[in-house]
Amino acid sequence: MSYDDNNIFARILRGEIPNDTVYEDDAVLAFRDISPQAPVHVLVIPKGAYVSLDDFTQMASAEEVGRFFKTVGEIARSLGLVGDGFRTIANTGVNGGQEVPHFHVHLCGGRRLGRMIAKD
Ligand code: 5GP
Repeated sequence: MSYDDNNIFARILRGEIPNDTVYEDDAVLAFRDISPQAPVHVLVIPKGAYVSLDDFTQMASAEEVGRFFKTVGEIARSLGLVGDGFRTIANTGVNGGQEVPHFHVHLCGGRRLGRMIAKD
C-alpha cells in the first residue's frame, strides 16, 4: 500500500489541521485523540511517511524504530500512565480496524479498560 499524502495525520503534520499536542520532537508527534476511548487517549506518530506498523518496521531504520518506541515509553511515563497501567494499540490494515493510513500507536489509560478485544 502506498502512502497517501492527504491522510488526516499527514495533514496534521503539515499544520493544516489543528491538534492538541502533548509531545513533539524532530521525529515524533503525540496528540490527543479527537474521539477519546479512555480518560487519557493519545496518538503517537512518527513524522516519516509510513502507512502502518508493517511499513514502519520494514522501511525505517532500526535506530528510527528503536527511538520511536523509546519515545512512546517516555510519553506514557510523562502522562502518568505507568503507575496504574495503560494499553498500547497499533491497529494495522482491515482486520486490525486501522482507519488512518499513517502509522500510529494509541496510548489509552486513566481507567480500567476491560477486555482487550470485544466480541462482536
Ligand atoms: P485507527 O482506527 O486508525 O487505529 O485510529 C485512528 C484514530 O484517529 C481514531 O481513534 C480517531 O478518533 C482518530 N482521529 C481521526 N481523525 C482525527 C483528527 O482529525 N484528529 C485527532 N486528534 N484524532 C483523529
